[in-house]
Amino acid sequence: MQTRTIDKTCMVVGAGMAGLLAARTLEQAGIRTTVFEEGRTVGGRMSTSRLGDGVFDDGAQFFTVRDDGFAALVDEWVQEGVVAEWSRGFARPDGVYNEDGHPRYYAVGGMAAVPAHIARGLEVRTGTRVAAIRESGSHWEVVIDGGTVESADAVIMTPPAQQSLAVVGAGDVRLAPSARAALEKIRFAPCISVMLVLDDSSGVPEPGAVQFSGQNGAGEPVWWLADNRRKGISTAAHAITIHGGPQFSAAHWDKTDDEVASVLIESAHHFVRSRVRSAMTRRWQHSQPVESHSESCLVAVETPPLVFAGDAFGGAKVEGAALSGLAAAEKVRRLLTTPRQCF
Ligand SMILES: Cc1cc2nc3c(=O)[nH]c(=O)nc-3n(C[C@H](O)[C@H](O)[C@H](O)COP(=O)(O)OP(=O)(O)OC[C@H]3O[C@@H](n4cnc5c(N)ncnc54)[C@H](O)[C@@H]3O)c2cc1C
Repeated sequence: MQTRTIDKTCMVVGAGMAGLLAARTLEQAGIRTTVFEEGRTVGGRMSTSRLGDGVFDDGAQFFTVRDDGFAALVDEWVQEGVVAEWSRGFARPDGVYNEDGHPRYYAVGGMAAVPAHIARGLEVRTGTRVAAIRESGSHWEVVIDGGTVESADAVIMTPPAQQSLAVVGAGDVRLAPSARAALEKIRFAPCISVMLVLDDSSGVPEPGAVQFSGQNGAGEPVWWLADNRRKGISTAAHAITIHGGPQFSAAHWDKTDDEVASVLIESAHHFVRSRVRSAMTRRWQHSQPVESHSESCLVAVETPPLVFAGDAFGGAKVEGAALSGLAAAEKVRRLLTTPRQCF
């Protein structure tokens, strides 16, 4: 990170793509930034997990690139060996490779490698849940679970909007009605993710994933299925990830893991093909936004700055989260460094 030139500080809540890229950008601008993350590791929905010898991407599976700024970042990650192109399309439910020429990227070793890479050199406190934020004169105070209080000149909130609203509500922050209404409108779809270690090869065709989602009700009950061995991240075991569609996931949210897994396995049995040795399930209450905010971040308070960001701002998905984090950092940088005029 660069030498500090500005005597300003920022606290970022959430160490997913949005929070980490915001923090990295602010540090590069000379603004001392601390990231608080309630999870044990960084990454949020860029998540890689293990079951026995199996390695699974259980949240985001791949990402695409449209924006030039994001493309420049991804080029760096490719040069550094963190990400690589996976394919230019995936198999359809009939098994036929549906190539459209548009690159899909994955992270070498699993998607969690990207946030881990961005977090290097940043001050990130994992296992630290922010219970509330509150205004204190020209500063913000962040109240951490357990009661510790830290203060900074600015705050960026990156959890899903309903969780962010709970945190600001706990600190009695009075948001402008328009900002509150914009945040309350944001909605996410749930997703149940099932991970299976197989005795032998799966029947997943090249390039190692089947995309069921699409028009006309496609994507229910199975939304997506990937063979993590063919993807190159599970070298020692046949490990597949199945994602339930949003309707299936909502309807089966309270069912047991065995019930959920058996429906999804049955629905995709010709791709699973081998005996299931072990299984685990993960429930994502906020998987992907279905109602987003139209701008890349939301400045709820200018002085002291309080900015909301994440994948529900502007663009959804990994790229949208990244662009939102970058946009939030730029807003904060400007608000903290532009002299305010007195009239
Ligand atoms: C099952 C699934 C499949 C997906 N597939 C794809 C895909 O293939 N391609 C794609 O582009 N996108 C995909 N996505 C979406 C993509 O993962 C997200 O858009 C992106 O990772 C969101 O990043 P973010 O930083 O906005 O939020 P997050 O990654 O959710 O980060 C927010 C962080 O805030 C933390 N947090 C929350 N509350 C607190 C608190 N009070 N205190 C401290 N920390 C807190 C959370 O633990 C989390 O780490 C998928 C998501 C899921 C769940």
